[in-house]
Amino acid sequence: MDRPVAFHEGQHAVVDLGDGLRRCYSMSNRPDSAEIEFIMKRYAGRVGSEAVSALSPGAQIFVEMPYGDMWIRQSDAPVCLVAGGTGIAPILGMLRRLAADHDTRPVRVVYGANVRDELVCWQDLAELVLELPDAELVGALTTAHDGWLGVKGLVTHALEPMLAGLVDADFYVAGPPVMTNAVTGLLKGAGVQLDRIRFDSFG
Ligand SMILES: Cc1cc2nc3c(=O)[nH]c(=O)nc-3n(C[C@H](O)[C@H](O)[C@H](O)COP(=O)(O)OP(=O)(O)OC[C@H]3O[C@@H](n4cnc5c(N)ncnc54)[C@H](O)[C@@H]3O)c2cc1C
Repeated sequence: MDRPVAFHEGQHAVVDLGDGLRRCYSMSNRPDSAEIEFIMKRYAGRVGSEAVSALSPGAQIFVEMPYGDMWIRQSDAPVCLVAGGTGIAPILGMLRRLAADHDTRPVRVVYGANVRDELVCWQDLAELVLELPDAELVGALTTAHDGWLGVKGLVTHALEPMLAGLVDADFYVAGPPVMTNAVTGLLKGAGVQLDRIRFDSFG
């Protein structure tokens, strides 16, 4: 960026790729730096993804930010971060924030993908969780390989057994619409108050 930028971890930017092509991407790093970090999935043949992938190092583009309401609020409640696929970008940013603050709240991170290679930044998450006094990381794979120690199935399958201890928690959920719909439906069904659920649907 041409100057340090302020935002809350969990918020997103609108990246202007020219000719009216604009797409949202969430920051995964900490604010107040002139560098911003995105985690972007390339979807072959889709316009926005291909335009991002075609950028060369040094190319100049316009970025509008910050946008979005999904950022960590202060409270005494436990925090539950739920990511599906590329939803990891804002969730990683929020976990970085909690670790930097030495936050003492119970923190639960649930991260789902199809296969292990798609659980990007898993090692970063594992290290950040170790920096917090009461944090746990649970992974869920729909196509689990032999030896996978996490949950076999959807992110909702991983979350469901944890909910009894999280009814009063603040939830932050990010991922594709099918995933955010499933998770918010599960939470509402479990009696979580709507004002405790914040989510970004990457549709
Ligand atoms: C808040 C938010 C945060 C996101 N964060 C990330 C992230 O961190 N990482 C990541 O990989 N992805 C993220 N996404 C998804 C990303 O913005 C793209 O939608 C995704 O990469 C799909 O790729 P695409 O743009 O190539 O797909 P496309 O098929 O080109 O478009 C995707 C969506 O945009 C719509 N669209 C297509 N053309 C137009 C147009 N001309 N005008 C208006 N709408 C159009 C389509 O209907 C479709 O819903 C985020 C999305 C949102 C809403």
